[in-house]
Amino acid sequence: MSIAANLDRVRATLRGATAAAGRPADAVRLVAVSKIQPVAAILEAAAAGQVDFGENYAQELRDKTAEITLPVCWHFIGALQRNKVKYVAGRATLVHDVDNLPLAEEIGKRSGERPTGILLGVNIGEEPQKSGVLPKDALALAEAMTRIPGVTLQGLMCIPPAVDEPSAAAPYFAALADLAARGRAAGLPLHELSMGMSHDYAVAIQHGATLVRVGTAIFGARPPRAG
Ligand SMILES: *Cc1c(COP(=O)(O)O)cnc(C)c1O
Repeated sequence: MSIAANLDRVRATLRGATAAAGRPADAVRLVAVSKIQPVAAILEAAAAGQVDFGENYAQELRDKTAEITLPVCWHFIGALQRNKVKYVAGRATLVHDVDNLPLAEEIGKRSGERPTGILLGVNIGEEPQKSGVLPKDALALAEAMTRIPGVTLQGLMCIPPAVDEPSAAAPYFAALADLAARGRAAGLPLHELSMGMSHDYAVAIQHGATLVRVGTAIFGARPPRAG
């Protein structure tokens, strides 16, 4: 299957899930996760009308943004270390997985004139091995993030525990949506919900995702990571 054909299929699924959930047609943005994929694959997707691209590795984002000058929109979706913020700030429009204040402050410091959008990464399944703030601490941290210069908090992000059936991720997506709703009721700007990947984005859309991060279903299996 070509990337354009894959994109058509993913868009159709996305539209169907959005309509089935009774949500507006433009409620969900598709982020094509292009990590480890070659520049040519990104250009192919862009030629097929894809605008938002997600990268996981800081130097890879820097290199790709230097090479690709099309007006695409870059998302950083991986775990970001503070010493690598310099590769990401000013290049990514939205950093999806920010889970502590020092990281948010560093992004703010390096953002230049235009603030960088950030999402608070939540460890929604409370898994000991995973990063992300625990749900019980999320809204206090979100509130603190709204006061950091140079970043604009826009919402929450999660990667739910690995489950076999996509439908089994539903309670986690619902929990993240509920957390964001409680935050909004308290005046926090938690409008974006980044949740859902290739195998479960339709379920995430049912539960309020506004950004879905889809890699394999668009680009096929990822090549092994060099270096
Ligand atoms: C790699 C990755 C994705 C995309 O995963 P696929 O299963 O290929 O769709 C989404 N989100 C994050 C955080 C990732 O690291």
